Amino acid sequence: MLAQRPEAAPLAGGTNLLVQIKEDHRSETALLSLKRVSDLNHISGGDEPPHALVIGAGVTMKRIAADPLIQKRYPALAAAAGLIGSVQTRNMATVGGNLCNASPSADTAPPLLAFNAQAVLVSTKGERAVPLADFFTGPGTTVLQPGELLKELVIPAPAARTGSAYARHIPRAAMDISVVGVAVVVTLDADKTIREARITLGAVAPTSIRAGAAERVLNGRLPEDSLLAEAGSVAAGEARPVDDVRASVAYRRHLVNVLTQDALRQAIDNAES
Ligand SMILES: Cc1cc2nc3c(=O)[nH]c(=O)nc-3n(C[C@H](O)[C@H](O)[C@H](O)COP(=O)(O)OP(=O)(O)OC[C@H]3O[C@@H](n4cnc5c(N)ncnc54)[C@H](O)[C@@H]3O)c2cc1C
Repeated sequence: MLAQRPEAAPLAGGTNLLVQIKEDHRSETALLSLKRVSDLNHISGGDEPPHALVIGAGVTMKRIAADPLIQKRYPALAAAAGLIGSVQTRNMATVGGNLCNASPSADTAPPLLAFNAQAVLVSTKGERAVPLADFFTGPGTTVLQPGELLKELVIPAPAARTGSAYARHIPRAAMDISVVGVAVVVTLDADKTIREARITLGAVAPTSIRAGAAERVLNGRLPEDSLLAEAGSVAAGEARPVDDVRASVAYRRHLVNVLTQDALRQAIDNAES
């Protein structure tokens, strides 16, 4: 159907799209509901390498947040999904919609990027897999071509002794978009040395970004408080925030520093447990 009407906007939960239409930010001549496309609604795999976790684009935030395997093996993703909007929002909002809307503050983008997710795109021409790092091209834009849908996300199963966490700041207790969001995935060696750390930052650049210099500070070292403080400060330097009505550049950098340290502590704790 999308090939016949490539101008139609795919409608998943509608929690972005319908709001944008009502507020006159978008005018659509056709919507294509994905609600009953069962191929988009599955969760499978992910228990241990090499079985990657596969999440259909139409899976709701409610299901992701409540999934026992995601809570255990991918806690950063479960946490991010569980923070989105309200109960009503999470019942409707899908992970595919969150990514395809491509807001710099989308809460599932940092954890999925930190877990090295691939986006599988489908059209009548076939399927292609794109690393999530290459999926976003700017605020509100992605590599999706007309007539193409996001089908699913493929997320490699974490190695043993891997922990993860997502920390975000919003000015209210709930129902607000992230001023800063930080996801961390950490793998420890048996002696607790950090074998690999992946840190991603949301809402501080046109798309979610990796904090590669902060990761290099951590790799091969023991996770002492002074090291985590150094990583937080380096991550703050890697952020590229803007001044806007919600926060200043200086405040956003401060938040990156603090939230990176918080997320690292949580991720290291759950890697050890
Ligand atoms: C009250 C409220 C609170 C919110 N709080 C948060 C929050 O805390 N954090 C956050 O990140 N977001 C938040 N949002 C935004 C929104 O809920 C999420 O981004 C949500 O995940 C969007 O998913 P959806 O299924 O509703 O997408 P839709 O609105 O249906 O679609 C969004 C966009 O993606 C496209 N699309 C959807 N699925 C596909 C697909 N499979 N392939 C190709 N294109 C597709 C649509 O055409 C549209 O352009 C909030 C929204 C509301 C209304």
